[in-house]
Amino acid sequence: MSSKIPCTLVWLRRDLRLIDNPALFHAAKRGQLITVYIFDEDCSGRRKTGQACLWWLYHSLKSLHNQLSQWNIPLIMKSGNDAFTILKELLDSYNADTIYWNRCYEPFEYNRDCSIEEKLKMENVTVETYQDRVLFEPWTIKTAKGGPVQIYIHFWNQCLSLPQPRKPYDKPKFKNQTGCQSKCDEPAVWQRLAKLSQDMPMKLQDFWHPGEEQAISKLKSFIKNSLNAYAEKSQCLRLNTTSNLSPYLHFGEISPFTVWHSVRHASSSAEPPAVKSESLKQYLRSLGWREYTCHLLFHYPDLPQKCFRSSFEQLKLQVDPVKLQSWQQGNTGYPVVDAGMRQLSVAGIMPNRLRMIVASFLIKHLLVPWQKGEEWFWSKLIDA
Ligand SMILES: Cc1cc2nc3c(=O)[nH]c(=O)nc-3n(C[C@H](O)[C@H](O)[C@H](O)COP(=O)(O)OP(=O)(O)OC[C@H]3O[C@@H](n4cnc5c(N)ncnc54)[C@H](O)[C@@H]3O)c2cc1C
Repeated sequence: MSSKIPCTLVWLRRDLRLIDNPALFHAAKRGQLITVYIFDEDCSGRRKTGQACLWWLYHSLKSLHNQLSQWNIPLIMKSGNDAFTILKELLDSYNADTIYWNRCYEPFEYNRDCSIEEKLKMENVTVETYQDRVLFEPWTIKTAKGGPVQIYIHFWNQCLSLPQPRKPYDKPKFKNQTGCQSKCDEPAVWQRLAKLSQDMPMKLQDFWHPGEEQAISKLKSFIKNSLNAYAEKSQCLRLNTTSNLSPYLHFGEISPFTVWHSVRHASSSAEPPAVKSESLKQYLRSLGWREYTCHLLFHYPDLPQKCFRSSFEQLKLQVDPVKLQSWQQGNTGYPVVDAGMRQLSVAGIMPNRLRMIVASFLIKHLLVPWQKGEEWFWSKLIDA
């Protein structure tokens, strides 16, 4: 039997949090709501989710599920690659005429979402989507001729010339949620994700605690202890000199808007710790690199396969399985490379400078194609 109380469906993707979640915020204002996460294990049309990211995803979803259940809000787990049909069935089943989601910008997701939005609107469903994963949406930054901006410094200067990114939304104020029961959940999806995350040979649980609470606490601790020295220390080979927020940003357990405004607020506040303006600038510039990569991927969808500069396609690189394996296992005999690669295999992370060193070593020293390194990073990194 379908519920008589109309409710809003919120489609969660890379926004696994409550604070500054525009879709959840607006849905909560409307009244009853349900949330859904669609797990597409085969990732039809794109590369499968990496091993380390699957571990993170499972724990992140569990954490959000616990948060939402405190308000009696179902997080329905579904699986499959036909998101339109899954969403439509849920809307019908819950007698919901409205769906909200936060926008994704990776080419596959963006195109899929546009097509789903169009089809749902044709079925008289109200669809609202919100800016979320980036501070500057990819189409807002352009050259004088209207094309994508290819050079980072030009890109970032243009971002800085625009109005400040919007302020973060508060945690949603959920009204008495009684009408929507979790009747369509597929327990097998939780079981499958749990299994995939248990099969993980890495030791991620010794280093990481996924979830929104941890994300906020990491941000606070970074502002208190490390932001001031960021300009001098951000390129160190140690992990605790930077914010370590990349996986939390990747899964949307914290939003870039929250990070942006928190660091700016800390640096303008009279309260200690004081923050050097160069450190603030450099940290915002790092967030800018994240924006830039999203901008490039949006405009150049084949970037994961092809060289950004076509002249680099001429490089004489070839797959040598022995060299590749020595790099992957951290057995090249070069201590800094080996330390980085072993850290990656255990903790799923590497500081930025070390990522550059090992990547450069693979391509320029071992002469192995960068795509092989990118594949390995994809399977091991928790922020890929
Ligand atoms: C070969 C290579 C592969 C990389 N792969 C990834 C990846 O898969 N996912 C990923 O998030 N980052 C990637 N980076 C960028 C960068 O190394 C990480 O974002 C950073 O090390 C994360 O640590 P942090 O959160 O402490 O960063 P902080 O220094 O605290 O920076 C804050 C945030 O800014 C963003 N950021 C910082 N530097 C960069 C950068 N150079 N490019 C893009 N965003 C940046 C991240 O979201 C980061 O969390 C890669 C860099 C290299 C050289």
